[in-house]
Amino acid sequence: MNIRRNDIVTPIRGRDAGADKTGKVLHIEPARGRAIVEGLNLVTKHLRKSQENPKGGMVRKEAPMAVSNLMLYCPECKRGVRTRRVTDGGKKVRQCKRCGHAFDA
Ligand SMILES: [Zn+2]
Repeated sequence: MNIRRNDIVTPIRGRDAGADKTGKVLHIEPARGRAIVEGLNLVTKHLRKSQENPKGGMVRKEAPMAVSNLMLYCPECKRGVRTRRVTDGGKKVRQCKRCGHAFDA
């Protein structure tokens, strides 16, 4: 898994792909290979009337999406990139394969 919580990612498949959208990874489910990304893959949930929410209604909410459909977003390349792993002063970091930008710095 090359994506972690709090990474900024961009989708390469699905509804939000190709629109220069990015979002922060809020939650990862490693076992299922899925991630919830802030602002991506929004679904409309229809809520039943309840005490908390007496009118019922609809909310927009992020649905989990496959990690394989996400790429790490490089702030210098301004696009999703692949990374290599390098050791920087004893610390393992992910590095953009295009420009060398170090993530996890
Ligand atoms: Zn880059």
